[in-house]
Amino acid sequence: MKRILIFLAALAFLGSTAQAAPLKVVTTISDLASLTKEVGGDRVEVTSLARGYQDPHFVEPKPSFLLLLRDADLIEVVGLELEIGYLPPLLDQSRNPRIQPGTKGYLDVSNGVEILDRPTGTVNRSMGDVHAMGNPHYWLDPANAVRMAIQIQTKLAELRPADAPYFAQRLQDFKMRINDANKRWMAMIAPYRGSKIITYHNSWPNFARHFGLNVVGYVEPKPGVPPSPSHTFELIQLMKAQQVKAIAMEPYFDTKTPQSIANQTGSKVVILYPSVGGGKTGTDDYFQTVETNLRNLINALK
Ligand SMILES: [Zn+2]
Repeated sequence: MKRILIFLAALAFLGSTAQAAPLKVVTTISDLASLTKEVGGDRVEVTSLARGYQDPHFVEPKPSFLLLLRDADLIEVVGLELEIGYLPPLLDQSRNPRIQPGTKGYLDVSNGVEILDRPTGTVNRSMGDVHAMGNPHYWLDPANAVRMAIQIQTKLAELRPADAPYFAQRLQDFKMRINDANKRWMAMIAPYRGSKIITYHNSWPNFARHFGLNVVGYVEPKPGVPPSPSHTFELIQLMKAQQVKAIAMEPYFDTKTPQSIANQTGSKVVILYPSVGGGKTGTDDYFQTVETNLRNLINALK
């Protein structure tokens, strides 16, 4: 009897001190995963559905996604309809009631960030594959990354109150490091502030505004619509007139038209990584990704 009591006491002791299993978090894009790791540390297990080198508008659903979603405690989404093409059916089929929209385990990060390009008036298909609720590429502004991390911290603490101080501490640490990094980034870009650039898709307005760049045109005639000869011709005239030196594009677009524009205008095509893990090197986390993009852009503007 005594031995059993000691055994039970030992069990109770172990139960009270043993670490709870990490929260299982699934994110749609790798940047959300990177920020969640910053805040969640070893108390979370994070997986992103989209890889950093994939076009986040068009993610091909895989059976493995369903397994991830079935077991998830939390799904984090960019929102603003970025994931509308693939996520709703996946959530449906996951049969996981904890992560459905409107529940505690569903975090739409767009609710707490600064959104640009909110359309005014009616939106229709003739405007292209326009982001009807505002520009969803907001994570490329480091100030928004902090706003995203704050929301992630609040949500993780809600789901795991015992670890709230740990998440709060890690958020503080993240804020300090991003403030330091931002000072360095601002110094790097300072000589090039006000530079005019072209981007392939309208995915860099938040990045451009934060770093003082001026996006004067797009390779796409309308968002999501491939380049057309007449639009390309106009763009070349505009770039010549305004002496634009750089055409920034994501690695998943075809370089053919941008390269041809560059040849005719004496500008340079520069690959910018829209997400963590988008490049073979230099994109391991959010910090590296911003820094690599700035370096690549500065090289083209020199
Ligand atoms: Zn877009």
